[in-house]
Amino acid sequence: MPPSPQTVVVDGLGLAQEMRKEMSEVIGRHLSQDRRAPCLAVVLVGDDPASASYIKGKRRACKRIGMESVERKLPKETTEAELLEVLDELNSDDTVDGILVQLPLPGGISANTIATAIDPAKDVDGLNPVNVGRLVLGEPCHVPCTPAGIMEILERFETPLEGAQAVVIGRSAIVGKPISLLLQQANATVTMCHSRTRDLADVCRTADVLIAAVGVPKLVKGDWVKPGASVIDVGVSSVDGELVGDVDTEGVQGRAKIVTPHRRGVGPMTITLLLANTLSAYEANLA
Ligand code: NAD
Repeated sequence: MPPSPQTVVVDGLGLAQEMRKEMSEVIGRHLSQDRRAPCLAVVLVGDDPASASYIKGKRRACKRIGMESVERKLPKETTEAELLEVLDELNSDDTVDGILVQLPLPGGISANTIATAIDPAKDVDGLNPVNVGRLVLGEPCHVPCTPAGIMEILERFETPLEGAQAVVIGRSAIVGKPISLLLQQANATVTMCHSRTRDLADVCRTADVLIAAVGVPKLVKGDWVKPGASVIDVGVSSVDGELVGDVDTEGVQGRAKIVTPHRRGVGPMTITLLLANTLSAYEANLA
């Protein structure tokens, strides 16, 4: 791959807005045929300010494209059994297409038990084991939003994946594992790295596509990046009150073909793919 004297900094917000406009047109067509709007139910347990702010952003995003959202705010003392009852109710409500339970959950509530309790058809976060299994098998399913957003970015920037060397740093169930499966399905050769990986920098230097989903500020240095590589920075950390990504964005300038910035990069695409998953759940529900 030739070196890239000009690195393109991906405008994730612009891509997200493009996709949201497309979705709002689709919803407009449904409404013009006297159908109800798609609906996302968002469940928040406790009063974590960051979670409350994420939920507010999600609800605002729904509203802007003509999607309904309902919110269930539960006190931090809510038990797992009580939360399961709320999910039962939302599962059987035909006017709810997607269900999202904001993480993290208070101690005493198992995130896995909760993910398992969401109807797989409404599991727009893609964390129910049925959806996870379908993803492993390469069958249609709700794909977790961040990896789905990354694939959109790679596709919209015409990143060749067939036969490419892809390196994923981080092996979480929400980003690292699913993105590695999606890249394999696109015929990339994928190497998974994590906190025990030896010679991480050398492994990264083999990557045509490098995904950093770690949460260690500026872990990926410029000279870890192969000239012409596509670099996706998923990590978000706070350093002295400033948000910082996993990639030294300045260091990769002139080496990477594309890089996502830690702000207005992957983040807006994550919310957009939540909307896309809800819209596809709605269309399946209608059908
Ligand atoms: P996590 O926190 O569950 O796991 C981190 C992973 O990084 C682990 O697999 C661990 O083995 C690996 N790791 C830790 N230190 C390492 C090191 N020094 N070298 C190599 N690997 C190392 O992961 P997560 O939930 O996928 O989150 C990762 C980051 O992505 C966080 O900063 C999170 O805030 C961010 N994130 C952003 C979005 C978004 O939409 N922008 C979405 C999800 C997660």
